[in-house]
Order: sequence, then C-alpha cells, then structure tokens
Amino acid sequence: MEEHPRAWIISVGNELLIGRTINTNAAWLGSRLTLLGFEVERVVTVPDRVEDIAEEVGRALGRARVVITTGGLGPTYDDVTLQGVAMALGRGLKLHPGALEMVRRFYSKRGLGLTEDRVKMAMLPEGAEPLENPVGAAPGAVVEARGSLVASLPGVPSEMEAMFEKALRPLLEEIAPPGAVVECGIAVVGVPESSLAPYIKEASRVSPRVYVKSHPQGSEIGKPLVRVRVLARASTLEEARAEALKALEKVRRGVEELGGSISEEDSC
Ligand code: ATP
Ligand code: MG
Repeated sequence: MEEHPRAWIISVGNELLIGRTINTNAAWLGSRLTLLGFEVERVVTVPDRVEDIAEEVGRALGRARVVITTGGLGPTYDDVTLQGVAMALGRGLKLHPGALEMVRRFYSKRGLGLTEDRVKMAMLPEGAEPLENPVGAAPGAVVEARGSLVASLPGVPSEMEAMFEKALRPLLEEIAPPGAVVECGIAVVGVPESSLAPYIKEASRVSPRVYVKSHPQGSEIGKPLVRVRVLARASTLEEARAEALKALEKVRRGVEELGGSISEEDSC
C-alpha cells in the first residue's frame, strides 16, 4: 500500500496486561483510523505507570502523525496517563480552566460539587486542549507536539467511542489524507486457504492501493472457511469501490475454478 500518515495506539491499563480486560478499544480505533486513511503502525499496551506511558508516547512522537492513548484519565490514583504524556513532552501538568468547567458542569448536573479528586481530571499537559466527554466525567486531552497530534481518550469503551466521534474525529479529518477508503469481503467455503493463496496474491496486485487479506476460520482440510477482506483507498469513493471490486473479482474467479462457493458477502 502507499505511504499514509502513521497512527499509533497506546493502550494504558494493568487490567489489559493481566488479561482481565480484552483490548476492544484498540481494535475499534484501529478500524476507525484505517478507514480515515491512516496507517496504523503500532498498538502498544503499557501498565498504569508514568514512566512506561512516557516511554511509548516519546517513541511515537515525531514518527506517528497521530498518537492515541486510551485509559487512565479518571480521578483515581492509578489514572496517570496525562502525567505520562506530559513527561514525554517535557512539560508539566496545569489546571485547564475549560477542562475544569467541563468537569464542574458534569457534577453540578448531578447535584455534586468539585473535590480534589474531581479537579485532578482537569489537569492537562501544558499546551493541551480538552476533549469533551459526552458520556462521562473525565475530559480527554489533545496536544500537537513534534509533528504529532497526541490525543488521550478514556478507557471505558462507551466514553472512548463517544469522545472519538464527537470531539476527535473532526480534528483527524483535517489531517487525514484526501480520498476515500472502502472495505468489503466475502466468505468462501470448500476451498483451503493454501489453494486460494495464488488468487489472493493476484488480487493484491490489482493496484498498490488495495490490500487483500485472507482470514482462515474453519479447518484447512475438511471444512474450510476463509474470509477474504479487501481494503482499497483512492481519491474518490467510486474509484475505491471499483478497485476493491476488481480485486474481489480475482478471488471470486479462483473460488469458481476451485469448485468452492461463497457463503457470505459484505458489499462496499
Ligand atoms: P474512569 O474515569 O472510569 O476511571 P479511565 O479513563 O480512567 O476511566 P480506566 O480506568 O483505564 O479508564 O478504565 C476503565 C475501565 O474501562 C476498565 O476497567 C475497563 O473495563 C475498561 N477499559 C479500559 N481500557 C480498555 C480497553 N483498551 N479496551 C476495552 N476496555 C477497556
Ligand atoms: Mg480509571
């Protein structure tokens, strides 16, 4: 595929490392960022430790156009993501009046006032702007540094998704490459992945702007089920669709020649 602005996802949380929580946020963000035209280059999971967060954010700076952290924005002692981001930037944390207003509004609607722990959620890295949290209390933060846009989103999936869609997406659309990305696919039964392989290779050669990937889900021999996904980028939606369909056509021909069948289609 062509070069595209790179994105890194840094997931913060001990619960992810010990296997108590499945990192659905990374998968969700990976697909959204890809469809926006970014090339997701890393998903890194780190513990709730300032130095570890700073280390990975520091590695991403200047290398990834977009760096998104998730988790660790809340009011408790182990929510240290913004401290880690600040350390990576070589800056301090500072009370942000706009962020404080967001936190204050959230609690006052529920008849509650500000406490020290609630005010903590409005401490952002110097130079960062808050991202509105349409669902929960803790605002996110976004800061531009060394050629990277660093955005910190909450860990709770419903909060993370709402903040991404409402507050972050407009900023990402400004820096996303022009054009359109489409994704579609088919499910193939009765053909081992290894037999389909040459057709998949041929399909991926349709254009450098298409990416074809097979995902075996049944057994190779016996009852093979292979999902084939095609991702295509082009300057217009119509062009992207046309390229994806052209690539998928090569796979369809293979399925026909090999005596398999298509059990599901996901159009683009
Ligand atoms: P809170 O304000 O609720 O503390 P937070 O931004 O501090 O939010 P965390 O404390 O890191 O977020 O995570 C809160 C919960 O969200 C976790 O207990 C977990 O259930 C869920 N969560 C965190 N990270 C992820 C992730 N990467 N994928 C899926 N769920 C996650
Ligand atoms: Mg928390």
